[in-house]
Amino acid sequence: MNCSKCGRQAVYFQRHAGRFLCKKHFVEDFERRIKFAIQKFKMIEKGDRIAIAMSGGKDSTTLAYVLNKLYGFRKDLEFFGITIDEGIEGYRPETIKVAKKVCNELGIEHVVVRFQDHFGMTLDEMVKIGERKPCTYCGVFRKYLLNKTSRDLGATKLATGHNLDDETQTILLNFLNADIERLARLIPQREQEGLVLRIKPFREIYEREVVVYGFLNELPLIFDECPYSELPVRAPVRDFIYEFERKYPGRKFSIMRSFEKLIPCLKQMYPQVDLNRCERCGEPTPRKICQACALIEELKSKNY
Ligand code: SF4
Ligand SMILES: [Zn+2]
Ligand SMILES: [Zn+2]
Repeated sequence: MNCSKCGRQAVYFQRHAGRFLCKKHFVEDFERRIKFAIQKFKMIEKGDRIAIAMSGGKDSTTLAYVLNKLYGFRKDLEFFGITIDEGIEGYRPETIKVAKKVCNELGIEHVVVRFQDHFGMTLDEMVKIGERKPCTYCGVFRKYLLNKTSRDLGATKLATGHNLDDETQTILLNFLNADIERLARLIPQREQEGLVLRIKPFREIYEREVVVYGFLNELPLIFDECPYSELPVRAPVRDFIYEFERKYPGRKFSIMRSFEKLIPCLKQMYPQVDLNRCERCGEPTPRKICQACALIEELKSKNY
């Protein structure tokens, strides 16, 4: 098939726009849409020091590459990578190597932060001792360390590789669970004292496009799944959206637009609250003791 724009050989069929794109026009379109999303939500501003959450997986690798390509030349901006090593044997070491390699090649600083060093045990050990699901420990502790590390290293923003597929799944899942408060947490540019502002430059980009862009730029993409990955509730939602999108291309954008239309109401329903400081560790939390400290206490009580 030929590119709908220039007639050269196409590398991608963009279903939602009903057109074929050659390498040049695919890359142009991809980068234009990222810049547009970044401007729309003021994700990157003059003087920002941006931490990139780099798991070493396909999304974060591509994110680091494209941010560096589009903004790396700006003297007023700084980027660095943070990788959290949860301690998942047979999975994480390889992705850390990739994250390190990518940062090296891009010439950006790279920091690895370990569960073991901060919480005294790896995720593998937590899973053996504790009764909660691995993703519960992982999610709470990773979020905690990403925020703390990026803030301690002077970051003004924390960029993550969440793409359109991830975001629409989360939006729909929150609706299905009637968890509107959690839905409100997806509002872009929500500032909270002590929390580094999270930005998601791929929020308007299909997962497939992230992968294609990574391949076209010969990036080291890792597709291995975490051994603890179960996706019990998310899987049917993901499959439903996938099927719906297949029949009616562009529906993922519709889900995103519906959410954006609700933002003013969500802001009224859940106005910004001042966060407390955790009595144990001093990190921001809506409770007295943050979730990470509570979980650590629970794990330690089982261990001794
Ligand atoms: S699948 Fe769960 S345990 Fe594995 S990296 Fe993701 S959140 Fe962590
Ligand atoms: Zn073309
Ligand atoms: Zn705490």
